[in-house]
Amino acid sequence: MRDYKLVVLGAGGVGKSCLTVQFVQGVYLDTYDPTIEDSYRKTIEIDGKVFDLEILDTAGVAQFTAMRELYIKSGMGFLLVYSVTDQQSLDELLELREQVLRIKDSSRVPMVLVGNKADLQDERVISVEQGIEVSTEWGRVPFYETSALLRSNVDEVFVDLVRQIIRNEMEGVS
Ligand code: GDP
Ligand code: MG
Repeated sequence: MRDYKLVVLGAGGVGKSCLTVQFVQGVYLDTYDPTIEDSYRKTIEIDGKVFDLEILDTAGVAQFTAMRELYIKSGMGFLLVYSVTDQQSLDELLELREQVLRIKDSSRVPMVLVGNKADLQDERVISVEQGIEVSTEWGRVPFYETSALLRSNVDEVFVDLVRQIIRNEMEGVS
């Protein structure tokens, strides 16, 4: 069976690597190199079926590169991650989403909006309501707040994404 290719996108420092490593390895790496871009493999079971995932943890969103175009092209589903402590990181996601939609050239790209670092209540600058608002503007893309630190909603965001891909496949959406 072919791999399900997932891509984790978002500004630097929002917790893309921590979320990915927490999901794949079940550990919280507090000191992860921000420049590392790597892919991870994980097999998961959903509704009694087994799926092989290949997860690309991206780095460096500053400029548009041919590299990014390539991995967006081959990606089947996208986690769009911001940090609830960083307004700029949410602003940058709008641009990233536009790139994904343009490159995939499809109105139904599997996507999940993720507000990470939900455990940092004192540093929060983006409310849950603001996250919901963005998800509504994006045509109700599934939205979750997560904490890679506490491992809260980590499995949920990846599973939601895989379910969207499966649903699209069943409905014959390319
Ligand atoms: P990336 O650049 O998006 O890959 O961000 P990282 O995953 O490297 O995370 C950057 C830093 O944010 C990490 O070193 C952690 O200290 C912190 N971090 C990531 N996720 C969380 C989280 O859920 N809660 C808290 N409190 N800190 C986090
Ligand atoms: Mg990283």
